[in-house]
Amino acid sequence: MTETVSFGYSEVSPTEKTAKVGEVFARVARRYDIMNDAMSAGMHRLWKDRFVARVKPRAGERILDMAGGTGDIAFRMHARGADVTVSDINPAMLDVGRARAAKKGIEGLDWSVQNAETLSFGDGAFDAYTIAFGIRNVTHIDKALAEAHRVLKRGGRFFCLEFSTTQWPGFAEVYDFYSHRIVPRLGKAIADDEDSYRYLIESIRRFPPMPEFEQMIGEAGFVQTKVEPLLGGLVAIHSGWKI
Ligand code: SAM
Repeated sequence: MTETVSFGYSEVSPTEKTAKVGEVFARVARRYDIMNDAMSAGMHRLWKDRFVARVKPRAGERILDMAGGTGDIAFRMHARGADVTVSDINPAMLDVGRARAAKKGIEGLDWSVQNAETLSFGDGAFDAYTIAFGIRNVTHIDKALAEAHRVLKRGGRFFCLEFSTTQWPGFAEVYDFYSHRIVPRLGKAIADDEDSYRYLIESIRRFPPMPEFEQMIGEAGFVQTKVEPLLGGLVAIHSGWKI
């Protein structure tokens, strides 16, 4: 049987998904940061602050920020003295990131085009691996997790920030209405791109629930896996250790 994977609410071939996700992020790159602020009312900044506080980057540590896009997580970790490599499959997102870094006077980050499923880094190259709002876009999540495990040193830590499913009664319905009805309209108004933002919302809905994703992290070889839900699970921080 031919393998299919989800692209939002559609089923497509793996090659098609990778290409379509590439098109989405090439289209949204220029307006990505302004849309993040608009869609989350600035809250993505607080989630990212909390995420990096959990990672606890230390001076001189080598950290891979995977699906790092325009650099939000990398900039925060670099500010704490870590030696950060920002990797993303999409050169357009990294280009915006490099320009933002230059504007902010941030130097010393490594920028590297990489597919999370097939990294070119050696085994045990990093002390920590972070991926924020990226993993749901990856075609084969299990392959990306296996690669995360491979490139970490023993004692290395894995952290993932991703949208999940809020368990708060009432809030879930409001969020559903907001995300399906309002976000695509914001996408149209701000970025003139309704379809990309419809995909981004649909991809959140297709992402595995917290216990299932935590299990996948365990299956990739990580131990002491943990989930920290934010806003009842609207967003979640998953983590694990390589031993
Ligand atoms: N981490 C950034 C942040 O939190 O603002 C960017 C998140 S953005 C929603 C998702 C990113 O995942 C995009 O930059 C996209 O190009 C990247 N991406 C999608 N599939 C990928 C893959 N297979 N390997 C690496 N990056 C990927």
